[in-house]
This record gives sequence, C-alpha cells and structure tokens, in this order.
Amino acid sequence: MTLLETIPSLQPAIPPRLSPAIWPRGTEYDSEGRITVGGVALTEIADRFGTPAHVLDEAEVRASCRAYRKIFPDARVYYAGKALMIRAVVDWVSSEGLSIDVCSGGELAVALSAGVDARRLILHGAGRSCEELAAAVRCGAGRIVLDSLTDIALLAASAQRPQPVLLRLSPGIDVHGHPAVRTGVLDQKFGFPLGSDMAAEAVRRVLARPDLELVGLHCHLGSQIHDPDHYGEAVRRLVGEMAWIRREHGQLLTELDLGGGHAVAYRPGEAELNLVELAEIIDDALDAACARHRFPRPAIAMEPGRAIVARAGVTVYRVMSVKRIDGGTTLVTVDGGMNDNLRVALYGARYEPVVANRRPHGPWTTATVVGRYCEAGDILAREVRLPADLHPGDVLAVPCTGAYHHSLSTSYNCVGRPPLVAVRDGCPRELVRRETIADLLVRDVGR
Ligand SMILES: *Cc1c(COP(=O)(O)O)cnc(C)c1O
Repeated sequence: MTLLETIPSLQPAIPPRLSPAIWPRGTEYDSEGRITVGGVALTEIADRFGTPAHVLDEAEVRASCRAYRKIFPDARVYYAGKALMIRAVVDWVSSEGLSIDVCSGGELAVALSAGVDARRLILHGAGRSCEELAAAVRCGAGRIVLDSLTDIALLAASAQRPQPVLLRLSPGIDVHGHPAVRTGVLDQKFGFPLGSDMAAEAVRRVLARPDLELVGLHCHLGSQIHDPDHYGEAVRRLVGEMAWIRREHGQLLTELDLGGGHAVAYRPGEAELNLVELAEIIDDALDAACARHRFPRPAIAMEPGRAIVARAGVTVYRVMSVKRIDGGTTLVTVDGGMNDNLRVALYGARYEPVVANRRPHGPWTTATVVGRYCEAGDILAREVRLPADLHPGDVLAVPCTGAYHHSLSTSYNCVGRPPLVAVRDGCPRELVRRETIADLLVRDVGR
C-alpha cells in the first residue's frame, strides 16, 4: 500500500503527472503552471491559432522513427500514412529513414508532393480504382499490395514494366481487438484467406502475368496489438505459405511484410507493444520457420502508423460550459469533440484530458467531457478526474491524439476541421490551417 492509499486526504493535493508514456517527451509545466509541449505553452497555441487545435511535436515523431530504425536495423519500416498524412510528417519520417505506406491516390499524391522517392512507397488498400493503381504504376511505386482478384486484373491493365507486388493474405490470427480493427481473421474484407482456393488462384494469376513480379507476402493483423506473439505466429504461417509457393510454382519470394498495428498507451498506466520483444520474437520465428521449411530468410517489412505519431499529438480545447447536474454527473462541454476525435464513437476509445492553462492542486471532481456536436454520442472522455473549479475559458488538453484524429476529422454541423500546429524548440508553426466557412461553401456547388 502506498502512502497515498493509506492517507486518502493527501490525494487531492497531488497534481497530475505528465507521464512520458502518453505525452511527447519534454512536456512539462512552465513557471506559470502552463503545460508546454516542444517548448511551447499549449495556451499560447490556443490563443494564437484558436481551438480546437491539433498540436504535433516534431521531435517526438522523429524520436519514434529513430527507435524503429535502431530496434529493426535490417527491416524496411514503412510509416502507415493513414494515421496522419500531411507533407510535413512525410518529410520528417522519410528524412529519418522510413519508407511510406499509402492507401489511396490522395495519399500517394501527398507523399509524392513531399518529394518522397517513389521507390520507397508501398500502396495497399481495398477497392482501389483503376486510376489509383495506374497512378502508382506511373510514378514507379516500389511495391503494390494486391488485395483481390480484381486488383490483379486492374493492375495488369496499367503495368508496363514488371511491377513488384505483394499479395495480402489474412493469416487467420485473431488479436481480439475491437471488431472494427480485427483485420487478421479469415472472415473479413481485406486480402485473401491464407490456405484458401482464392489465395492459390491469386498466386497462379499473378505468376502468369509477365508484367507483375510477385516478390513477397503481406499481412496486417489489426490495430492496438499488445502481444508480440501474434507477429511471431504470422511469420510462421506466412513463411509456410512462401515455402508452399516455392514447392508448387518454383517461385522464391524474398519479402515478408507484417503490416502495422503496434499498440500505444492512450492513458497513464496502459501498456504499449514492446518493440524490443517484438524484434526478438520476429527473429526467433524467422529462424524456426526458415529452418523448418529450409527456406532462405526473407527481408522483413513493417508498417507502423499509430506508433510513430500518436504520442506526438495533443489536442487543445476551450471549455465552453460546465453543468453540474443535481445528484448526477458534472458535464464539461468543449468547443470540439467527435469531429476532431472520432475514435471514441468509433472504437469506444478512452482518453484522459487535463487542464493545460494552470497547474491544478485539487480538490478534484469526476466529470464527463462532451463535445459541441449534435449527437448524444459526442463524448470525449467519460468520468475523468478534473479540477473541481474547472470553468469556461479553461483550456483542456487531450494527449496521444496524433494518430487517426486529424486524418479522421470531419466537418459535421458545418464546423470546419481544426488546424494542425507543429512545435519544435519553442516555436509553433502551422502545418494545416483551420478549415473555414468559405472552404465549406466552395465545395457546395449546386443551386
Ligand atoms: C492501418 C494499417 C496500418 C497501420 O496501422 P497502425 O495501427 O496505425 O500501426 C499498416 N498497414 C496496413 C495495411 C493498414 O491497413
């Protein structure tokens, strides 16, 4: 039992700790009690760029990339752009030695306009159009992942020289996540079920095309995966499949892309995927599977998205009202919500907002933070600990919002999407400006 638990009266006096597990490293309270990220007070960003605003710490993104390069020196690490696809991030991660994973013509265009060498791009995705595949071929994308038999036909129509491709297989591994992110099981929309007739047919068709060069297999098991053993199992199953393809067709595949899904912590005390353990498990699984099938070790690729950018992001809101409902909850309404953080409604994600304009010392209350949008489900954080004197005008910050927040944002209720502001060495700079009412009207072309 800790001292705090023994003497509960001490508890209210303890200010929240800005845990480095969920905040960008270097986040701290300044002498005025304001939270600073990358040397910039979050209230300064709120005042200058308005709220809500997404804040992104460049050093944190770069540090995550370096950790991957160090732990997986021999793997090709693709940043999964769908987590946050903007030119600045593409530029930072590629300058740190990562390649880029894109899933649409739009993401491809962003990556190219950031100046990425097309050979370092991989295009994956379901339901891509002929134009999107053709654009990837035209720019010389290093790898294209085939997701369906239709893909094979569409891609063959535009390929001129042999296009290196990977086949996406679903290896039948259930990571027990939210149903929306279990993509490794056999019965879901992505890829070819491993061991199925359809997968065998896909291999046959790709190998029959001189304009497609099958170089390897791909899988993506899901999101927020904590247990590295799932990746070891994927290695064993996919190396088995590669050995089968060699036996059946005499074709030696040399690449194995294990997708992304590496878990991060969203709240203090939550676990993240241990990358050092992951590296060991992948290595051991490769050793065992390659020995068993007498198969040459394939090159490993991986596609982390969330794990690169999630912790670098913080969203700042202004408190608009505080309602203390008699005998019930305290409801704190902020000026953002589901439009900038869809993950709560989509996955039941949990967050821990903290007040950012002053360092609170208690007493505390339990409150539910809700958004401004016209949906009862527009809730940012249920039953969290906040200062009892929280009032309109206070600034709330929600950490770990760098991945799948800006990229999933909407303009529901005709409220423009928030800006994205980078911080580095004490300087803020706008990377994406706020969507204005004029922006919204411009697209509304009918009359
Ligand atoms: C979404 C996705 C990723 C990235 O997932 P994270 O959870 O952000 O790491 C990687 N590869 C593919 C194919 C994906 O669909």
